[in-house]
Amino acid sequence: MDKKIEKKLSALDPRFRKKIEELFESMSESVSMLYEVATHDEKTGLYNNKFFETLLDMEIEKAKRGQQKLSLIIIDIDLFKDVNDKYGHIKADDLLKKLADLIRKHIRKSDIAARFGGEEFIVLLPETDLEKAKTFSLKLRRLIHADKILKKYKITVSGGVTQFRSKDKDNKKKFKERADKALYQAKHKGRDIFVALE
Ligand code: GH3
Ligand code: MG
Ligand code: MG
Repeated sequence: MDKKIEKKLSALDPRFRKKIEELFESMSESVSMLYEVATHDEKTGLYNNKFFETLLDMEIEKAKRGQQKLSLIIIDIDLFKDVNDKYGHIKADDLLKKLADLIRKHIRKSDIAARFGGEEFIVLLPETDLEKAKTFSLKLRRLIHADKILKKYKITVSGGVTQFRSKDKDNKKKFKERADKALYQAKHKGRDIFVALE
């Protein structure tokens, strides 16, 4: 709490002070909750798409200004409709969360992972060139294959990987479309694969 406010509160009748302190505490909890709801996806706990867009804008600006590389990976669960049909929505939701947890656990602190939509995730990798992003995608694929639960339900993903080109050759729309195009190619190649487009 602010020092000035603390000083004013200490001058109050203890009963009022307690009430006001409780009010402050609940306000601060509400603000934290509001932040969480506004920026995160409820089902997976990853960032939501809207907040991701804000972070993406910021990272693109950084990449444009400096020499810093920036890569993007779009991940889509393979044949997830069949998983829902076979095991039901509740189990499928659990698996979606499990995959989100795995992604969150293995990215760096500076990386940004979000739920892009239904069964799609997006990972933004600052200070990462295409080669390093490809390496990360291979690691992710290995981890998914090695996870006991995901393996049991035969969960695989396809992904599109790309990096931001120099500022006069690229923009946000092109950047995202390229990752999406790479994902489309991965699906076309038979799934369970990441395709990279420079
Ligand atoms: P593909 O390999 O081509 O991506 O096949 P797919 O079945 O994953 O793709 P499609 O776009 O046909 O279907 C996506 C399915 O993902 C449909 C929907 O039932 C499921 N899905 C999307 N969001 C959720 C969710 O939040 N929970 C659950 N349980 N299922 C979801
Ligand atoms: Mg999809
Ligand atoms: Mg899918």
